[in-house]
Amino acid sequence: VPTIFSRIARHEIPAVIVAEDDAAVAFMDIAPASRGHVLVIAREEYPDIGSIPPATWLRVMALTQRVAQAIQRGLAPDGINIVQNNGAAAGQTVFHLHVHVIPRWADDGALALWRPGAMMPEQLDAVARQIRAALGDD
Ligand code: 5GP
Repeated sequence: VPTIFSRIARHEIPAVIVAEDDAAVAFMDIAPASRGHVLVIAREEYPDIGSIPPATWLRVMALTQRVAQAIQRGLAPDGINIVQNNGAAAGQTVFHLHVHVIPRWADDGALALWRPGAMMPEQLDAVARQIRAALGDD
């Protein structure tokens, strides 16, 4: 079953599209966190960052940057968040990879991404060892 975003990419269901090319589509989020919240998707359906081919991911990031630059020029926000959720535990609700481009204005309270935590240096080393080992598996 195609995701709702695949159907948007094929123009089968309506969306307010701001830009598209052969690899990626950018359209307005239907429930925006702020004025100008845009989603950038790959035309092809990949659920998440783990499954998208690197070359396709780069195309999504290229359109994401163009859209962020256009938002900066066109809407003049005080800042922009780029957010990309993978997995239900991370807040992903549509399982077709997408990047959120969210313009921010000072004190808008539009989103809080994390609360700063605390880790001892040896704990940082231990988790870095796990990540490095996994990188070596590639
Ligand atoms: P996620 O939580 O998966 O990172 O984000 C999914 C986003 O897609 C949400 O911000 C939600 O508002 C948006 N969304 C869900 N369904 C639709 C839709 O049919 N059209 C549009 N334009 N946005 C959608």
